[in-house]
Amino acid sequence: MKTVPSYFGSLVFDDRVMKANLSADVYRSLRKTIDVGKPLDLGVANAVAEAMKAWAVEQGATHFTHWFQPLTGITAEKHDSFISPSPDGGVIMEFSGKELIKGEPDASSFPSGGLRATFEARGYTAWDPTSYAFIKGKTLCIPTAFCSYGGHALDKKTPLLRSMEALNKQALRILRLFGNTKAKYIRSSVGPEQEYFLITKEMYDQRPDLRFTGRTLFGAKPPKGQELDDHYFGVIKPRVAAFMEELNEELWKLGILAKTEHNEVAPAQHELAPIYTTTNIAVDQNQLTMEIMQKVASKHGLVCLLHEKPFAGVNGSGKHNNWSIATDAGQNLLSPGETPYENAQFLLFLCAVIKAVDDYQDLLRISVATAGNDHRLGANEAPPAVISMFLGDELNGVLEAIETDAPYQGAEKIQMKLGVDVLPKFNRDTTDRNRTSPFAFTGNKFEFRMVGSSDSIACANIMLNSAVAESLKIYADRLEGSADFESDLHEMIRKTIRDHKHIIFNGNGYDDSWIEEATEKRGLMNLRTTPDAIPHILDKKNVDMLTSHGVFTEAEIRSRYEITLENYCKTVTIEANTMADMARTLIAPAVEAFAADTAQSALRKQKLVDGLACGYETKLVAKLSALTDGIDEAADALEQSIAALAGAKDIGEESAMIRDDLLDKMAALRKVCDEAEPLTAKKYWPYPSYADLLFGVK
Ligand code: ADP
Ligand code: MG
Repeated sequence: MKTVPSYFGSLVFDDRVMKANLSADVYRSLRKTIDVGKPLDLGVANAVAEAMKAWAVEQGATHFTHWFQPLTGITAEKHDSFISPSPDGGVIMEFSGKELIKGEPDASSFPSGGLRATFEARGYTAWDPTSYAFIKGKTLCIPTAFCSYGGHALDKKTPLLRSMEALNKQALRILRLFGNTKAKYIRSSVGPEQEYFLITKEMYDQRPDLRFTGRTLFGAKPPKGQELDDHYFGVIKPRVAAFMEELNEELWKLGILAKTEHNEVAPAQHELAPIYTTTNIAVDQNQLTMEIMQKVASKHGLVCLLHEKPFAGVNGSGKHNNWSIATDAGQNLLSPGETPYENAQFLLFLCAVIKAVDDYQDLLRISVATAGNDHRLGANEAPPAVISMFLGDELNGVLEAIETDAPYQGAEKIQMKLGVDVLPKFNRDTTDRNRTSPFAFTGNKFEFRMVGSSDSIACANIMLNSAVAESLKIYADRLEGSADFESDLHEMIRKTIRDHKHIIFNGNGYDDSWIEEATEKRGLMNLRTTPDAIPHILDKKNVDMLTSHGVFTEAEIRSRYEITLENYCKTVTIEANTMADMARTLIAPAVEAFAADTAQSALRKQKLVDGLACGYETKLVAKLSALTDGIDEAADALEQSIAALAGAKDIGEESAMIRDDLLDKMAALRKVCDEAEPLTAKKYWPYPSYADLLFGVK
């Protein structure tokens, strides 16, 4: 049997392969590009391309592709083979540095939100050497950024890399102020915990809603759901275990550090978490993980549902984005230190995050806004749509002491006032695991829990990196010219606590009273839905911040506004059309057939026994008839609302019409269909029920 270390990363052109296959000069030069972004010259690119090709061909690859992440939310690839004709009539396998560095896919079918003029259909892809190339099937995949010829980002990687650079720049300024002259760069790291559902392929195929929208649009509550909490961390069923085993193997070959796996709260729900890595690599790997989950599931006769809310009434799926920042030497800047001086630096970084989350609540909410995630946020299961932070008792105590100049009541009761020399040593607080907070400090990292399960984690990290870069910039601007570093530092930390403590909340985020307190008393934003949230990306303060750090241009921000709302409208409209179609062609006919057969059978019985009342049948037929009438009316109303969308003057208005009207009509149609389901004999029902789906994998 092959051991994991023997095949881990075997499909990746990683550092080990580079070292072994590149000359020392080329390797050193490439390493500089990877580590500090030194531009790559064509000679080096040619040498890397040659080595990459030789390695890939040896692994059986015949094609290469520039693998990128357009704004559709999934990945895209266009394959070219390595072959090139040779004079003797045969072929040789070729791959040049130019082909490695730059590609020119036709960009016209990818969303651009108005960024790409029609004369400029071509976009280009540019190699991201910081994320390793890998082999998928018979194709060498080269992670790339995707831009228009005008230089506008048409993807999620470009702004992510820019945000990492912004954070790097500002964090280094702070480190220098604390006397760190050695750090070459800082990077943010991410470990995304991925939730998903597994159901059988056979049942999936019978449900148009799952096939077209990834979620059930109908379904009466099953007799058993997640009430008993007997699934969480429960024994993994053999079929699921076999899936997980193969999934791990595939991920490990791709160098993805799949680490933990367990059953989640809802029946049929599971989670996979990798070990954290540099943010842009984590983003690429998470996209790949989602793709491979679906592929492996299908080999096992299963379907992996990544939708945020596949089933009403049971928990939805999210993706906890664990985030921290560290130096190239591996020092985690969000880890409380050993000395008071380190602790002052830690507190400043902590404050930068607190300030960032408060100042840019809207951007964080926007970064996770999708039609699917709207079902989850605020639905009494996932974090609410209101952003708040959880820090834990120990840190709260420290911050309170600093704010009020009171002695800190920690292990070493100490006055917190006089600058960095007297900051106490405090323990990292890992005991209290508040599970309801959207943004929780968990000892040496923050866990942003609002990301949807099917979403790319790129956007969340773009906003997080940028907002924290902004706080750090403000701090660095102030401290670099300071005559009295220690007292200015102390004052700034105090001011941050005073100004931003309203974002810190340690109670239960699922409580209704919290939403009231958050919005009424604390003035926090409650952007309930995607149409509520997205327009704020155009707010001046957000545009100013994002453009000043070079993360987005103003045109790019506008394009993202358009594309995100367009995605929302398209997604919900497809759902609405699917509902109307299912109600008319599947559900109403099933209920009607059952009613007609029941009526027939009553007539037959009455023929046999004169004067037989047939009370059961009569009542049932009346009920079912009323329901089919109801279904018809609700479908009519839904279709009218869908048709009305054509009259919207722009995407903002269309999304508001969906929020204020269409969603209600969808809910009304679902309600009467779900009422009909338990009254209709099972053999008439046209597709598998919730109970079948949720408990179908043995
Ligand atoms: P849980 O949140 O379920 O208790 P853990 O705290 O063990 O689980 O870790 C969850 C995720 O956080 C994992 O992907 C882990 O690798 C990641 N993680 C741990 N430390 C860091 C860090 N310093 N920066 C970013 N992610 C981290
Ligand atoms: Mg977690």
